[in-house]
Amino acid sequence: MGLVSKFLGIIIAVSGIAILFFGSSDPVWSFGYYILGLILMSVGLTLVTSRQDAKDKKPPPPTVTEIRCDNPECTFKEIRDFQKGDYILKPMDAQCPKCQSSMTIHGVYVVREEEPE
Ligand SMILES: [Zn+2]
Repeated sequence: MGLVSKFLGIIIAVSGIAILFFGSSDPVWSFGYYILGLILMSVGLTLVTSRQDAKDKKPPPPTVTEIRCDNPECTFKEIRDFQKGDYILKPMDAQCPKCQSSMTIHGVYVVREEEPE
């Protein structure tokens, strides 16, 4: 199925390009052929590339953020789901629930299912 649509896409794109290049010599029709060629080409290329896109659109791997308390005396550490905007050494708004110190992100990890810690 994927191969068929890819093949079809190539045929449509190539015929679009052919129309663009060899379009009608009649000036009244040449503009219409030009548009038709462009449309065919984009439709064909969409067909060819859409399969690739679908393949690349895997769900992102689960990512976790490690937050540690800034107080060296305190051992508080929290692992939570990665949130947009998280980065290593980003100061957190939240306070340590143990000692009320500020907290900083110490790591962002991609969780690999095949090698659990
Ligand atoms: Zn703390």
